[in-house]
Amino acid sequence: MAEGLFKEGIAAARLSPEKYADNFSDLHPPLDHHEALVESDRCYFCYDAPCMQACPTSIDIPLFIRQISTGNPLGSAKTIFDQNILGGMCARVCPTETLCEEVCVREVAEGKPVQIGRLQRYATDVAMGQNKQFYERATPTGRKIAVVGAGPAGLAAAHRLARYGHEVTVLEARPKSGGLNEYGIAAYKSVDNFAQAEVDYVTAIGGISIVNGKALGRDYALSELTASYDAVFLGLGLAGVNALRAEGEESDGVENAVEFIAELRQARDLSALEVGRRVVVIGGGMTAIDAGVQAKLLGAEEVTICYRRGKEQMNASEFEQDLATSKGVSIRHWMQPKKVVTEGGKVAGIELEYTALDGDRLAGTGKTLRLEADQVFKAIGQSFEPAALNGSGASIAMEAGRIKVDAEGRTSLAKVWAGGDCVVDSREDLTVAAVAAGRDAAESIHRALTSNGRA
Ligand SMILES: Cc1cc2nc3c(=O)[nH]c(=O)nc-3n(C[C@H](O)[C@H](O)[C@H](O)COP(=O)(O)OP(=O)(O)OC[C@H]3O[C@@H](n4cnc5c(N)ncnc54)[C@H](O)[C@@H]3O)c2cc1C
Ligand code: SF4
Repeated sequence: MAEGLFKEGIAAARLSPEKYADNFSDLHPPLDHHEALVESDRCYFCYDAPCMQACPTSIDIPLFIRQISTGNPLGSAKTIFDQNILGGMCARVCPTETLCEEVCVREVAEGKPVQIGRLQRYATDVAMGQNKQFYERATPTGRKIAVVGAGPAGLAAAHRLARYGHEVTVLEARPKSGGLNEYGIAAYKSVDNFAQAEVDYVTAIGGISIVNGKALGRDYALSELTASYDAVFLGLGLAGVNALRAEGEESDGVENAVEFIAELRQARDLSALEVGRRVVVIGGGMTAIDAGVQAKLLGAEEVTICYRRGKEQMNASEFEQDLATSKGVSIRHWMQPKKVVTEGGKVAGIELEYTALDGDRLAGTGKTLRLEADQVFKAIGQSFEPAALNGSGASIAMEAGRIKVDAEGRTSLAKVWAGGDCVVDSREDLTVAAVAAGRDAAESIHRALTSNGRA
């Protein structure tokens, strides 16, 4: 079927196989050797480098860039992995435009930062391409640690603990490991099954066994883990999704954006995925952008993202917003969902109310508009699902709906640490922040299990 001529609502195979392949190819193709040398030469190797301060994992950015410029990509990769063992994925998914590259002195002076993310990808690709392992396990300590959740937080914790010689068992509910790296990140940011290649790279250190299909709260209780292991790290992520609080939310055609993306990430054949002709996405974060862009790339004719506040308040960065509009996605501001309109039990549109600020408070104006839609995605944030922790004996302290931890990642329960999206943290819910939390909690566990840092 030719593009744009389809008339039905939700349907599959809207585009040609070549178009699917092209649409979902690498968003930022990798730098080749020469390009990496040229780009690394742009770095001033600043003393007190602001880029390094802005990195949640504190990678020594000027050092790794200098190592690239002196022809030492493996040394560069080691500098990155020393701080962030998932540096390969972070190079692909970090919103560098709001982190290291935003504060790069060349951005401040000329509006063109050093492309730190692409240089990081270059170095880590070289090392992973050669399966170069930089770390050896310390002498086994005999200590056993359970890590629940094989997402970025859990994997980073597991690797750091294994390095110290501890024996780590990762218990993961889903059939594949990687967390949102595998099930959430937009397909065009992580191509060629990179998430699984990274899991293999991380676990190659040894001393880490991952058991898939084992969910906390369903297959075992937290109290069983604390009884059987010397320490437990919880990297559970956010399993719940916030409600639209709009009439008709349960209608056929209203879907959770995260589930749609997970299905897309696992699809062997993109042409088999169904997508609406007119798609409306409700939300203003990365998930909303990713769902909107991918729906468009799958062949939706019209995609509109509706956000209840203004452009500046969107959680998605300006780069992400521009990416969406460059792919033909419309972003509309100052409107909130009021009612899902249905015909024959199926979504036919959505009624939205214009919003405005009343002092500091966001309020509906009473004026409405209706957008036609045959598919509506909810992308208004995820929430922590505490059910997994229930029935585990003493209850864990919570704060603002997530697990409460101290500066080292310790929860209120003895022997239990937590990190990543499932904890209350001032940092954003980002892959790199989860890696930092897992790594730091592992250091804390190691200190607690050893005397003066020695087993
Ligand atoms: C659609 C989407 C797109 C995103 N895009 C980006 C991006 O481009 N860049 C970026 O930096 N960040 C992005 N993020 C955020 C980023 O993915 C998260 O911040 C990060 O994955 C958090 O890591 P985590 O390890 O805490 O949790 P997760 O990645 O969610 O991993 C948690 C793991 O725990 C497992 N688990 C949950 N409950 C149980 C249980 N009861 N028992 C056993 N296992 C369990 C889960 O199956 C999962 O594997 C995105 C998020 C979403 C939703
Ligand atoms: S701020 Fe920019 S120029 Fe300075 S060290 Fe970092 S990347 Fe290099």
